[in-house]
Amino acid sequence: MQIQLPTETHNCLNFINNAFVSAAGELFPIDSPWSGKKIGESRFSTKGDVDAAVSAASAAQIAWGQTPIKERTKVMFNFRDILLRDLDKLSQIVAAENGKTPIEARAGVMKGVEVLEYAISLQNLDLGGKMEVSRGVHCEYRREALGVIANITPFNFPVMVPMWTIPIALTLGNAYIWKPSEKTPMASQYLASALKEAGLPSGLFQVVQGGKDTVEAIIDHPQVKAVGFVGSTKIAKAVYERSTSLGKRALALGGAKNHIVLLPDANLDLCGAGISDSFTGCAGQRCMAASVILAVGNVDKHIEKVVERAKSQVLGTDMGAIITKEQVTFLKDAIARAEKNGAKILLDGRNTPAPKGMEEGYWLGPTVLDNVKPGSEAASFELFGPIVSIIRCQTIGEAMKIENEVEYGNACSVFTSSGVHAERVIQSAKAGMVGINVGVPVPREPFSFGGINASKFGHGDITGVHSLDFWTNTKKITTKWEPQSDQNWMS
Ligand code: NAD
Repeated sequence: MQIQLPTETHNCLNFINNAFVSAAGELFPIDSPWSGKKIGESRFSTKGDVDAAVSAASAAQIAWGQTPIKERTKVMFNFRDILLRDLDKLSQIVAAENGKTPIEARAGVMKGVEVLEYAISLQNLDLGGKMEVSRGVHCEYRREALGVIANITPFNFPVMVPMWTIPIALTLGNAYIWKPSEKTPMASQYLASALKEAGLPSGLFQVVQGGKDTVEAIIDHPQVKAVGFVGSTKIAKAVYERSTSLGKRALALGGAKNHIVLLPDANLDLCGAGISDSFTGCAGQRCMAASVILAVGNVDKHIEKVVERAKSQVLGTDMGAIITKEQVTFLKDAIARAEKNGAKILLDGRNTPAPKGMEEGYWLGPTVLDNVKPGSEAASFELFGPIVSIIRCQTIGEAMKIENEVEYGNACSVFTSSGVHAERVIQSAKAGMVGINVGVPVPREPFSFGGINASKFGHGDITGVHSLDFWTNTKKITTKWEPQSDQNWMS
């Protein structure tokens, strides 16, 4: 699948009451990381734009919340058909604005479809519950939508991350306000049109473009009942604190620094692609990307395999671009700082050739740094690029101490052929998601997604069963109809 960049610039609008409208704030450009050229523009939403989106959503949500879940789910079935029909078109939009390869973009969309399929299954799974608790008296659980909820998303998965929440929150009866990343607002135009075509009533899916001020206006709006956020740790913490200080429910997923514990007994054939693809996939711009290899004992042969595979990655074919020019500069400087700090560069991506015709784009090849010192920038700071740092250790205990000391807690994997060693890593890792011989341990639905420590602020996970409690209130109903019903200690 070849990249197809848009030939005309795209005006990315807000979507309010099933219509595309311009926001009132300042204009901002959208560049394609592939070419470095402008492919679109958008405007920041003001408080007035947010007010308009939320009050329309609030009005629309009342009837939607009272619609039976089986009827709401019909819209989601249609939505799935439309997404699959347009899979290639949507993957090209994501690739163009984000810099991924079209194949990677398609994989992200399909992960979103998987969450949609989970949402579709709720009509059969989430039955609440009812029982006769004493003669003639029944207790019942009902799940009720919160009302208007909001979600704020990062640049790195313009469809997959929003799709962690869109289908579930809507199926459960909420109205949804989405603030996409200002770096990748184009996919929002497609998703809004697709939901309209699927038959979602007007006002239930509202898109407001923008940045910090827009986010703060959303959080502060009294009718927004819950805030979902995915992005960097600093912003996740700020969004969580602002939301909860207003008494709102919030779940804010942050950044990561993921470790791979590489043991000498690891299967050599599993290591090359398993570890290399983890830090080079999506050009390392994944919150689940491997970032540090904790090399225990003599694993030089395994590392050779990793380097060999990483070296074979061709920019534009196997690997995509970096989101901005500034980020490329930051990453190149970080490599230079690591080298100055004693790291040995086993593979240097700073001069890897850009794809033909894309020389103005934002590119960096895979980079492997060896002998990185624990606690240094390359060892503990989230760089968010195709760079992996090798830290040499003598024992699993030493490796896990280093893993535990990093502030984040998204993912940790171990490559080994020993179940005992694997279990030791599972038990001692300070991470919400653990992999055994799997470089990117993203759980498939219905297993939920979420880290711990500075990778997540709030309780529960953003997908799977926990998300049901996040997007709803449970109402407990106790009923007695017959006057002759048994008396008990509660009556
Ligand atoms: P970011 O934090 O810069 O932006 C995320 C969102 O926050 C965007 O919509 C942005 O407009 C908004 N924002 C920016 N500044 C803000 C402010 N001061 N106040 C309120 N909102 C603000 O993140 P990014 O660069 O777009 O995405 C990359 C980051 O996201 C990485 O740290 C990555 O690890 C993380 N991420 C985490 C997960 C996860 O599941 N834990 C998943 C994907 C990405």
